Amino acid sequence: MYSSENIEKFKSLLASSDRAVFFGGAGVSTESGIPDFRSQDGLYKQKYKYPPETILSHTFFVEHTAEFYEFYREKMLCLDAQPNAAHRKLAQWEKEGKLSAVITQNIDGLHQKAGSRNVLELHGSVWRNFCLQCGSPYPVRDIQNSVGVPHCRCGGIIKPDVVLYEEPLDDIVLNRSVEEIRKADLLIIGGTSLNVYPAAGLIDFFNGNNIVVINRGTPAKNMSGVLFIDGKIGEVLSLL
Ligand code: NAD
Repeated sequence: MYSSENIEKFKSLLASSDRAVFFGGAGVSTESGIPDFRSQDGLYKQKYKYPPETILSHTFFVEHTAEFYEFYREKMLCLDAQPNAAHRKLAQWEKEGKLSAVITQNIDGLHQKAGSRNVLELHGSVWRNFCLQCGSPYPVRDIQNSVGVPHCRCGGIIKPDVVLYEEPLDDIVLNRSVEEIRKADLLIIGGTSLNVYPAAGLIDFFNGNNIVVINRGTPAKNMSGVLFIDGKIGEVLSLL
């Protein structure tokens, strides 16, 4: 639980910041009804034939494409989910000129749905899909409505523009994220276990003095010297 004193500290850090950056993960979207990986009711705690990390890997996509899509359509496509209070507050801060970027590990597009514009999607987005052979784009509804492996008109396999385990991050997105974090004077981290690399390593590029972490439970990295608020991010950001 968090104290009102910590909320007040957060408010004053935000008030004295000229350039805040938000870095987040799957926990930002749980209040929109999208399960994360590592919470009590997250995908890691559910029973599948393979662990989600295996299913969402490049090798699995190549070798068991139909099984990949079975899991992906059922668990990763939450197309009707709506932004929650956390997404909306971050979009508001950007409009007010307080927040320069949202850097997210999420692939659900909810920050954009809430109105955020400078969103750096480290792991891509379910909303973009391309043929691996000819590069033709496909709307996500085609993937959702497909049966088995979705194919392009040219016969190629369609792949979501999502970074699977074993795949590299997009250089441009990575460099822009590093740049935003380097220039920030306040880093707000939320809804992430900080277990997934290289994404989690990006926060080490922060040069400023003030870091606020809003998370249910302690993330995997050393949190000494940061303002840690143990709570639901939508709830916490609504108080600001
Ligand atoms: P994670 O599941 O490893 O960690 C989520 C963290 O958020 C946990 O520490 C959990 O306790 C916390 N949390 C859950 N609900 C919260 C809430 N309402 N408020 C505050 N904290 C909350 O997720 P991760 O660190 O993002 O890393 C795993 C990978 O999950 C990422 O690569 C991401 O691509 C992928 N993923 C994305 C989505 C999505 O797009 N919504 C969903 C599932 C997984």
